[in-house]
Amino acid sequence: MAVYVDPLFQWPIESTAPAARAVARRNGGLWCHLVADSIEELHAMADKLVVRRTWFQDRSLRHYDLTAGKRREAIRRGAVELDEEAACETFKRLRKAAAARRGVTYCRECGCTDDCACEGGCHWVEPDLCSQCADAGV
Ligand SMILES: [Zn+2]
Ligand SMILES: [Zn+2]
Repeated sequence: MAVYVDPLFQWPIESTAPAARAVARRNGGLWCHLVADSIEELHAMADKLVVRRTWFQDRSLRHYDLTAGKRREAIRRGAVELDEEAACETFKRLRKAAAARRGVTYCRECGCTDDCACEGGCHWVEPDLCSQCADAGV
């Protein structure tokens, strides 16, 4: 059981939630995702980092968005630093686990669901395989 952070990414200020724009401007629009194997670990780390609960994103991938400073602090407190590829794998795993818990149909490859499709949209080509993953030849 662990807590993870992915590499920093740039997110446009104009697409940032209004409440977070001032913070985004201060750190150049750089963010990362904080995720965890369990919701308890996720909230516990957020509490240690003094990240407000209102920043919790209850999507198919349950996460908090962290600034670069909070990311460093999370790593110092034991969060596992993932590279791009490992983050992709971990997010898929967590999305699938979340979908399974909710009892909804999910793609066996990417973990997308009816209410959270792949970027650009996808549909089912098999009961548990979405069109984007099928096209990618997995
Ligand atoms: Zn898929
Ligand atoms: Zn999909």
